[in-house]
Amino acid sequence: MDKSKGREDGGSFGKKATVKQLPVSTGIAGISMKLEPGVARELHWHATAAEWAYVIEGRCRTTVLNPAGKSETNGFEPGDVCYFPRGYWHSIQCLGDQPSHFILIFDNGYFSEFGTFSITDWIGHAPKDLLSKSLGLPATAFDTFPKSEVYFVHGDSPPETPAMPHQGHLETPPKTHHYKLLDQGPTSSFAGGREWLVSQAEFPISKTITGVVLELGPNGMRGFHWHPDADEWQYVMSDDISIALFGANGRFAVETLNKGDVGYIPQGYGHSIENVGDEVARILIAFNSGEYLAIDVSEWIAGNPNYLLAAHFIQKLDVIEKFPKRDVFIAPN
Ligand code: MN
Ligand code: MN
Repeated sequence: MDKSKGREDGGSFGKKATVKQLPVSTGIAGISMKLEPGVARELHWHATAAEWAYVIEGRCRTTVLNPAGKSETNGFEPGDVCYFPRGYWHSIQCLGDQPSHFILIFDNGYFSEFGTFSITDWIGHAPKDLLSKSLGLPATAFDTFPKSEVYFVHGDSPPETPAMPHQGHLETPPKTHHYKLLDQGPTSSFAGGREWLVSQAEFPISKTITGVVLELGPNGMRGFHWHPDADEWQYVMSDDISIALFGANGRFAVETLNKGDVGYIPQGYGHSIENVGDEVARILIAFNSGEYLAIDVSEWIAGNPNYLLAAHFIQKLDVIEKFPKRDVFIAPN
């Protein structure tokens, strides 16, 4: 994804991985987006998808309004997560004097085409008499408005203290759109790696997406497992990640992914993730379900009686007894 052309505007860009670029990924799409200081991704909403984001570098600020008319403005730093339910308008601005790079994830691989609605696109194409009637300005005031979608908005860097919205209040909705994922500390820790997880349980507004940052040491491996209720979308933040996929009927594939690459595991497909490089590696993972479910092969085996396993694998019991007695999750554990 990061090596694709995408949409560029100076140093700002949006590079997509939707069903167009990655046909297998019908359930989840993603965008790698960088905003230069003073640039904002314009006010818009998605008719067909909720949006989840993870900040990799720099700082940014979001504005969002819920259908009850409550607006929220949040500042984001690396390791922070945000969630916009389907149809909620939002914007994202770079904050400060360094560029901001973040990964956007959508719970629909087809979210993009005819599914993203922007304020300048709408205002630019509506008849001026209707705009005048609806928004109270004289029709001629709209003569100098942009005629089509702006997408990347250029302006001054926003003030550090968020300004009041036009309607005069700045209330935090009961379900905030902001979650500081890496600040929470890892959800699980092993000799081979660590994991930070955020599901609907920790971040109530995120009803349709669970996110994970998986960190693997050299030779660390997230063992064979599958997800019964969700597709898995992966953005590789370091080099030399090996993904092994089991697709039933004898289908098995192993591929190496590098920094900026995207991987996709359809719901129910068996897989593992291994760091085959020399450095500690991080992978951003998203699931299109607010509830996180995974079943590990080590756990599956540990959950069966030895005689049954011995019969399956045509082995003596002493071999079967060497299998782990519980879920390994990340090897070495
Ligand atoms: Mn969006
Ligand atoms: Mn997985």
